[in-house]
Amino acid sequence: MDGSGMAHPVRDIVVVGGSHAGLFAGIALRNAGFRVRIFERAPQVLQGTGGGIRVQPRLAAILQREAGIDLSQFATRTRYDRHLAPRSAGPGNRIVFEQAEEGAFASWSSLYRALVARFGRDDYVLGETCLDAIEASDGAVVRFAGGRSERADLVVYADGIGSAARARLNPSAVLQYAGYVVWRGLVRMDQLSGETRDLIRDARLFVIPGLSHVICYPVPGEDGEPGHRVNAMWYRNVPAGPALEDLMTDREGVHRPTSLKAGSVQQRHIDAFRRAVEAELPPAPAEIFAKAEPFVTTINDVEPFRMAFGRQLLIGDASAATRPHVSASTARALLAAVGLADALKRAGGMDEVRAELSAWEREHVAIAQEFTNRGRMIGRRLQVEGTFVPGDPELTQITMPVAG
Ligand SMILES: Cc1cc2nc3c(=O)[nH]c(=O)nc-3n(C[C@H](O)[C@H](O)[C@H](O)COP(=O)(O)OP(=O)(O)OC[C@H]3O[C@@H](n4cnc5c(N)ncnc54)[C@H](O)[C@@H]3O)c2cc1C
Repeated sequence: MDGSGMAHPVRDIVVVGGSHAGLFAGIALRNAGFRVRIFERAPQVLQGTGGGIRVQPRLAAILQREAGIDLSQFATRTRYDRHLAPRSAGPGNRIVFEQAEEGAFASWSSLYRALVARFGRDDYVLGETCLDAIEASDGAVVRFAGGRSERADLVVYADGIGSAARARLNPSAVLQYAGYVVWRGLVRMDQLSGETRDLIRDARLFVIPGLSHVICYPVPGEDGEPGHRVNAMWYRNVPAGPALEDLMTDREGVHRPTSLKAGSVQQRHIDAFRRAVEAELPPAPAEIFAKAEPFVTTINDVEPFRMAFGRQLLIGDASAATRPHVSASTARALLAAVGLADALKRAGGMDEVRAELSAWEREHVAIAQEFTNRGRMIGRRLQVEGTFVPGDPELTQITMPVAG
């Protein structure tokens, strides 16, 4: 109901996709008084990689306000950015640059678990793959692969970077491969040597071997695990074409254009990666990668951005994928979710809902564009031009989007 006592034209909202963005939307919209159900295709609660999410102060503040989640309870902290020379510059872990820089990192799974606990399991439906939604003047019918269908006043798709909803609603927005992938690995801190632990426990560790870059930092351990883990990423150029297709084909022969999980990368690619680690990285990051089970993600942009299509909306990575260098995808998804809830609360009738949704789209498309441009600039300087200068605030300091 709005203040006039008239029924709000939006009451039931279906969210498709139950990862971070879907849960942000579910929590924010329910806080605003809407009836929300989340449908996730995975048959069980999601198993994350434990990879890192940079916790920026505003992300933490909004999560605390909207979801009562205190990220500081399960975030690791760093106090320095520390750069090591690549192996080509000589043996050992040689620090070539260091500056004070505060950082806080949650793990993907710790944030996910907190969000599911907050949203609850009653309206969090697993094992339902959305096929599409049919719109009518008074709502939409969301159809699922198993034959289920659900009526909703609005459908929010948070179905990730490979979004099928985006492909239907915004077909000109295709994934544009950025020219490089990120090799990732996670290892428990207590499995590392004392020298490596000393270098990483309070720092983000960087190495820039040629036209590539490595970042490692501590993240919280998985449930029940003693101590922290180290999250390691090495961004490496791989030309589009057969080399990339082969790399992104898993052990079962299935081509996966965006991500291969730990355990599914073909052994000969892992062997080649381990040889490169030995040849190019100083001992600390080399040890981290040597003890991890590596996995690979491609880096992509998605344009043009659109988010609002009548009663169907895109949010999170489904609306736009921004490169990880900007460390802002999670914050962007959260801001869009909170902004959506506020926009819908303000609207009295269906015309106002449409106007609010198009203003919401304009604001959040601009944010996505800004972060895409910034991610491209950082990627170009590191992976193409080799003009990255350690400590350059243009490249390292993260600014949050303006909304929220
Ligand atoms: C290397 C790397 C590092 C990153 N680092 C950071 C960082 O430091 N900080 C940060 O903020 N972000 C970071 N990100 C980005 C961040 O992981 C995502 O932006 C964030 O998790 C939001 O994802 P999402 O919920 O939109 O999509 P996803 O997490 O991809 O979730 C989509 C969900 O939709 C479900 N789904 C898909 N199709 C259907 C369907 N048809 N029906 C039902 N369900 C469906 C999927 O199963 C999945 O659970 C990083 C990303 C990468 C690749």
